Amino acid sequence: TVEVHDVHKWYGTHRVLDGVDLTVRPGEVTVILGPSGSGKSTLLRVINHLEKPEVGYASLNGELIGVRRQGERLKELSERAILAQRSRIGFVFQNFNLFPHLTVLDNVAAAPVATGVLRKPEAQALARTLLDRVGLADKAGAYPRQLSGGQQQRVAIARALALRPGVILFDEPTSALDPELVGEVLSVIKDLARSGTTLIVVTHEIGFAREVADRIVFIDGGRILEQGPPAEVLDRPQHPRTREFLSKVL
Ligand code: ATP
Ligand code: MG
Repeated sequence: TVEVHDVHKWYGTHRVLDGVDLTVRPGEVTVILGPSGSGKSTLLRVINHLEKPEVGYASLNGELIGVRRQGERLKELSERAILAQRSRIGFVFQNFNLFPHLTVLDNVAAAPVATGVLRKPEAQALARTLLDRVGLADKAGAYPRQLSGGQQQRVAIARALALRPGVILFDEPTSALDPELVGEVLSVIKDLARSGTTLIVVTHEIGFAREVADRIVFIDGGRILEQGPPAEVLDRPQHPRTREFLSKVL
């Protein structure tokens, strides 16, 4: 279970997250919708503690991320402890962020070796299995620049899976792709959803959200204005801001 508890994040007087609570249970797929600047990326970054909130915290399976309690206060963990926690939270970015100097296979195998979870031969065997799962078994020896954007993003997904994360966060995973490559990436994410992986996906792909999400969360101005199953939020939005947003993207 991922929990976000009363998170506030601000820059000066600008409130980017303004009291966000969110619970995502194991195997659930949550899609986050909202206009540009509403705080979606910041929320994902709070979950793996790339962003430190001024108030509140995130937890994974009951364990606080990035902090520990000290009496009434929260104290920052060591960088090393934070990195260890972060390795259990997969993150897939808009721009793939693969290592350009490593082959596809080594991109996927790198993290389990670096974190000491697996030795190189085992990590490479796992990487081959994961590449097969995202339909790229034949690209193991290629370098990222030799792949299409859709293929690179599928490698990034395989790489996120390599640490067997408790949850995978996706920040607009298809928005940098040419339209004809969007489907192949969404289809890999759909497979993950069907196999029971816990996912939190920021996307503007409403069709995908409708098909795959257990829950849709609409965020605007750093607040969750509405959440529920797709049939409620997409077809019978209650909040005027949700209606306005959907009328623009649908
Ligand atoms: P988009 O759909 O465009 O990706 P978003 O919903 O992901 O938008 P965020 O990236 O979370 O929005 O940003 C929320 C707000 O926080 C924006 O107004 C942004 O300008 C502001 N912001 C983000 N990072 C910083 C920073 N380091 N300093 C100041 N303001 C910031
Ligand atoms: Mg964003």
